Amino acid sequence: MSAAAGYGSTAEYMAALSGWLAVDERIQGYRGYRPASLEESASRLKGLQAVLADEGWSRLGWPERCGGLGGDPRFRGAMFDTLWEHDIPVPEPFNTLEILAPVMLVHAPHLAQRYFYSLLRGDEAWAQAFSEPDAGSDLASLRTRMEPDGDGFRLTGQKVWSSFAHLAQRSVLLARSGGPGHRGLTMVLIDLDQPGIDVRPIRSEDGENHFSEIFLDGAHVPGDRVIGELGQGWAIAMYMLQWERGAYGWLQQGRFHSRLEHALRLGGDNPGSAAMLGHAYAMATALRLHTKATVDRLAEEEVLGPEVSIDKLLLVDAELATWDAIRHHLGPAFDLDERFGWLRTEYFFSRAAPIYGGSQEIQRTLVAQRVLGMPREK
Ligand SMILES: Cc1cc2nc3c(=O)[nH]c(=O)nc-3n(C[C@H](O)[C@H](O)[C@H](O)COP(=O)(O)OP(=O)(O)OC[C@H]3O[C@@H](n4cnc5c(N)ncnc54)[C@H](O)[C@@H]3O)c2cc1C
Repeated sequence: MSAAAGYGSTAEYMAALSGWLAVDERIQGYRGYRPASLEESASRLKGLQAVLADEGWSRLGWPERCGGLGGDPRFRGAMFDTLWEHDIPVPEPFNTLEILAPVMLVHAPHLAQRYFYSLLRGDEAWAQAFSEPDAGSDLASLRTRMEPDGDGFRLTGQKVWSSFAHLAQRSVLLARSGGPGHRGLTMVLIDLDQPGIDVRPIRSEDGENHFSEIFLDGAHVPGDRVIGELGQGWAIAMYMLQWERGAYGWLQQGRFHSRLEHALRLGGDNPGSAAMLGHAYAMATALRLHTKATVDRLAEEEVLGPEVSIDKLLLVDAELATWDAIRHHLGPAFDLDERFGWLRTEYFFSRAAPIYGGSQEIQRTLVAQRVLGMPREK
């Protein structure tokens, strides 16, 4: 029996996890860990992911049929919150898990059964390859082709902005298997280290390789790697969005709270700091309350609609406000002090919040048209 099995409530689970985090020797080196680079963080935090899985803490909240210990997604949220409270970083692949694993469980149970546990344990990492140079907001216009090829398919095209793809072994990818528009799309799982695939990191302004381009030149994908049915790619992408906006938002609110508390401990006292920190705290709290309700609905297996765009909009406000406030509070030291390199990396990333996972303009339009029922603009 693992350390984490058998908790009836998230409160009971959090108390037990808290006690374990405080004493387990393997965990102490991760407390207050500040990575020097994304690559270093990915490599180091694999060890943390492995311990959390081996001891069962990260298995709660996932179904038993794929290696979990049962229980609903609230247990996952409880683990993230507890890690942040102990200033132990949540490994980046948990973001991807929250977005992709629910999709696999519902639409490709055979793949979930094969790969889920390796992903949870950090033995492998996955990326998402949806966007293309001419298809971001308008994803339905993507052009990567998927054509029949023996026992499977042949992929040809180009993807861009795939987060951490250069550190991943596999990627979920959306391609055109049929005619134009969203009905011609199919979702597949590809191996990134195979012939016909070239992953090229993109160096960002902050000096980090946040993203990659993925070039596909006739890459073969076996037929059993299709997620759902042929032509169902768009519907599955829409299913994925409820997790990308709701569950991801919950995970991130814990980080914002943790970073705000950290900045307060670091000192700093610029005029206007109090108002900005108070505003950021209010935004992070609004995100927390709203995404808590969303995660509760996901736990009850409700299918969410366009209202999850509200979660994304609240995430944008909270992420920008948090980092604006921290930068202002710490003053020039934030930009210059060597100790704050990791904070600057998170600051730079926060500037992308209005774009990633569907831009702010698109989310506002979705809320206006599909939640409020306003007519489409001409
Ligand atoms: C940090 C980060 C991580 C990412 N990770 C991934 C990933 O892992 N995998 C992946 O596939 N993609 C990823 N992306 C890409 C992301 O999904 C796209 O950048 C996003 O969907 C916007 O698409 P685009 O960049 O092509 O911009 P465009 O769609 O060209 O939009 C440019 C601007 O025009 C606005 N705009 C576009 N259409 C409309 C409209 N109809 N009405 C009003 N305004 C409009 C947009 O809001 C935006 O401001 C990531 C992006 C970022 C920033």
